[in-house]
Amino acid sequence: MPELPEVETVRRGLAEHVVGRTFDFVTVHHDRTARHTEGGRAELAGLLEGQKVTGVQRRGKFVWFTFNDGVTDGALCLVVHLGMSGQMLIKDSRAGVSDPNHKHLRARAQLSDGNALWFVDQRTFGYWRTDDLDGGIPASLSHIAPDLLEDATDVAALARKMKAKRVPVKVQLLDQTIVSGIGNIYADEMLWRARINPKQNPTRLSLGALEELLTAGQEVLRDAIAQGGTSFDDLYVNVNGQSGYFDRSLNAYGQADTPCGRCGTPLRKIMFRGRSATFCPTCQRAR
Ligand SMILES: [Zn+2]
Repeated sequence: MPELPEVETVRRGLAEHVVGRTFDFVTVHHDRTARHTEGGRAELAGLLEGQKVTGVQRRGKFVWFTFNDGVTDGALCLVVHLGMSGQMLIKDSRAGVSDPNHKHLRARAQLSDGNALWFVDQRTFGYWRTDDLDGGIPASLSHIAPDLLEDATDVAALARKMKAKRVPVKVQLLDQTIVSGIGNIYADEMLWRARINPKQNPTRLSLGALEELLTAGQEVLRDAIAQGGTSFDDLYVNVNGQSGYFDRSLNAYGQADTPCGRCGTPLRKIMFRGRSATFCPTCQRAR
């Protein structure tokens, strides 16, 4: 599933190729893509047609487009969630049914510069939805916490919030109402960097240790963005259809039984609250 670095890579590509263009003609091809729109596919397409894109924003794993009306309260925006397998691709106007991505094409916007924006989503967990902005954020995302890379994020305050909860550290990192954008890949990576056990009870950690964890998270996310994200399952690509290559830099996620890059102990994979966690049993002992 795309996490913050993958979604940020997509956002940057969309900002480059879509801002300043108008959605001249929109078609939505799958009911699930429009599942949050009361009137379904036709209504979603109708709301978007004729809108000129003025910006592309992101919080956590969500991207949204702003339009002519700007960013005042009540202005229309388009929220995109990639789900498990969603791809936002820029195609030239000749791309059609012979294109290999066409089989899973769920929505398409003809852009005023002659290119087209394709939403390709094999598993249909992703969606497009129009929404109203409220305080600069789509109303449907008001329960999503800021992510680690937002200017407004206060690492010390977030560390205090996490320490006050008797919920294992990794569970908190994955909770989008505490901090957004982090999934299994980057949670395992930041815990490895900060030498913290995924099941660690945060009330037993110092505030300094939790701040180090969050700072390590910021570093991991920035490093991953610099490498175009992680294409571990081959479903994630940027707007030009290219994979990211942070998977070559992973220290923990997907590395079970390989030697820890710090101490050489084989990494261990456990199942924990329905998710996997991979960690070094030597340098990430529970405290
Ligand atoms: Zn180790």
